[in-house]
Amino acid sequence: MFIAPGVQRLLAPNASMMTGPGTNTWLLGDPPVAVLDPGPDIPSHVEAILAAAPSLESIFVTHTHRDHSPAATPLKARTGARLIGRPAPRDGLQDERFVPDAVPARDEIFTAGGLRLRAIDTPGHASNHVCWLIEGDGLLFSGDHILEGVTPVILVPDGDLSAYLEALERLKTYPLRAIAPGHGRLIIEPLREIDGVIAHRLRREAKVIAALAARGTATLDELLGPVYADVPLNRHGLARMTLEAHLIKLERDGRATRSGTGWHAREG
Ligand SMILES: [Zn+2]
Repeated sequence: MFIAPGVQRLLAPNASMMTGPGTNTWLLGDPPVAVLDPGPDIPSHVEAILAAAPSLESIFVTHTHRDHSPAATPLKARTGARLIGRPAPRDGLQDERFVPDAVPARDEIFTAGGLRLRAIDTPGHASNHVCWLIEGDGLLFSGDHILEGVTPVILVPDGDLSAYLEALERLKTYPLRAIAPGHGRLIIEPLREIDGVIAHRLRREAKVIAALAARGTATLDELLGPVYADVPLNRHGLARMTLEAHLIKLERDGRATRSGTGWHAREG
């Protein structure tokens, strides 16, 4: 499938409930000299990247969750390529071996294989998340900020729902043609997708507010069932984390308070 001039996709062999069909690793340049989100440190995947891009110069990452950046370390050791991204937060869920050679400033532009890539700050799913936009083409590498077919989980305390929604709104101000997500297929209607994700989050927030108002006071576990009645039980562990992110946002917005394990409704 055509993605953009000088862009190829390599699917990492790490399909799972968390990663869908696997992590999308993007090869940049013709021939490829850069890789974006090298993915997990699985030997066959590292070899596939090296076979496609033997003269690797740059390795970009969107964030340092363990399905996105760990292959950067062996690839750098084998090729000397420089690592570009933000350092790993210390929340126990990150690839802490990832030590960048260059940390992008907000909207900084890097070149790779004849492409110009703009770093767009997109904290929320992870505090160090960056989306990368191909200047002039409008293809956005969205990492886990926007996914095809599912809404990203917000894992507190590193994840932040207020920041996530703000970043989605800001993303709409860039000239986007299509979105190449970290998992799943190309998204060809970027603004419609972004608005859909925002609407989904706000609908979920309304359910949290209603469930809390109905009970006055409730624990996370008491809210999980009513708020996520539409989500299969095997996803409730992940949903619980995003529910906490919703409650923290509502607390910040003055719509909820907490004491101990209890959350309390507050008139907004
Ligand atoms: Zn992630």
